Amino acid sequence: MMNYSALKDWHNSHKESALIGRYITLHNIQPLIDKLSGLFSVAVLGYSVENRPISKITFGTGPINILGWSQMHGNESTTTKALFDLFHWFDSNKEESAVNRLLTEFTFTMVPMLNPDGAEAYTRINANKVDLNRDAQDCTQPESLILKELYTSLKPDYCLNLHGQRTIFGVGKPPKSAIVSFLSPSQDALRTVTHSRKKGMAIISDLNEMLQEFIPDSVGRYDDGFNINCVGDTLQHKNIPTILFEAGHFPGDYDRETTRVFMFLSLIRVFESVLLLKSEETPSSNSYFSIPENKKCFFDYIIRNIDLPEIGVTDMAIQFEEKLVGDQLNFIPKIAQIAELVDFIGHLEIDLASEKPRVPADFSFEIGNIIEEIQVNGKLPTTFSVKSNNIL
Ligand SMILES: [Zn+2]
Repeated sequence: MMNYSALKDWHNSHKESALIGRYITLHNIQPLIDKLSGLFSVAVLGYSVENRPISKITFGTGPINILGWSQMHGNESTTTKALFDLFHWFDSNKEESAVNRLLTEFTFTMVPMLNPDGAEAYTRINANKVDLNRDAQDCTQPESLILKELYTSLKPDYCLNLHGQRTIFGVGKPPKSAIVSFLSPSQDALRTVTHSRKKGMAIISDLNEMLQEFIPDSVGRYDDGFNINCVGDTLQHKNIPTILFEAGHFPGDYDRETTRVFMFLSLIRVFESVLLLKSEETPSSNSYFSIPENKKCFFDYIIRNIDLPEIGVTDMAIQFEEKLVGDQLNFIPKIAQIAELVDFIGHLEIDLASEKPRVPADFSFEIGNIIEEIQVNGKLPTTFSVKSNNIL
């Protein structure tokens, strides 16, 4: 196995600096695709609803076919950044024997942005307002057809379904933020642990082991309820081991620049794990189910013991709404809950110790209201809103 601390250091100084922050569009990645070296071949697979090109990037000469795609949900860009870091890493280190081995064992096909219209608009859905990850059977959308045609012709040995998850997910007891989560999807309603599913589980167990060194107790396992309309479930149903990546929230890192490195490390580890699996008759997947399941138990902020007019002393949760304003992604703090939040944790918590907040006379503490800052007597105001970097 490679030295993952050294890989993390490499990433720190060599990550693709043209891609920073959460709002990543085709404008950002196209120049990088255009200047990829001769190690890579690029082809346009087709066009999105709004006629943006969807490209695949192929490299390596080996017999094991790996297919990955990112930004199927347009606002989930962390794994796209990690893919370009991966391209850069392969290109910079291709002479090294361990890297060269990957290039001769595998042929990689990566679609870095399956939903470029959603990326532009910063939405999960495509331009026809369809969730592409619920369109795997009907394939009503051009983006879904492009992916289907690709996996049908390529017949991949493994698939990587690359996503991002919201800040609300935690793992373990007491819960920590689910910085990354994985799933080896079910391929039937009984969630049978088939041979193909077991391969995915073995790889995820291995990913978890590697990541525990860096982010202990912060790796989650996604719910494995079967839905044939999801792409991962469809592929697993065809006995193609598929791994769902979910890039989550590292505390304080709303740009997901820290999570990005763990996605990069995980991609490389998948390839190493697949090579290990090659030599095993029966993949061992024992530790997969010991990875704690994700649960929705976090808010961006929780204000404890706030004394509200007409309500009295209670807790208040604030959750960011991510909103694109021009080319800038803003995180709008909105009141999400007003209740005793004993089973929830804030990524940041403030205890007002029953003090009455000073607010404008016309402000009402209601769910959905924007709350930019809060102040109590004798203390500096706490400001909630943050902005993501953007590079345009
Ligand atoms: Zn997603």
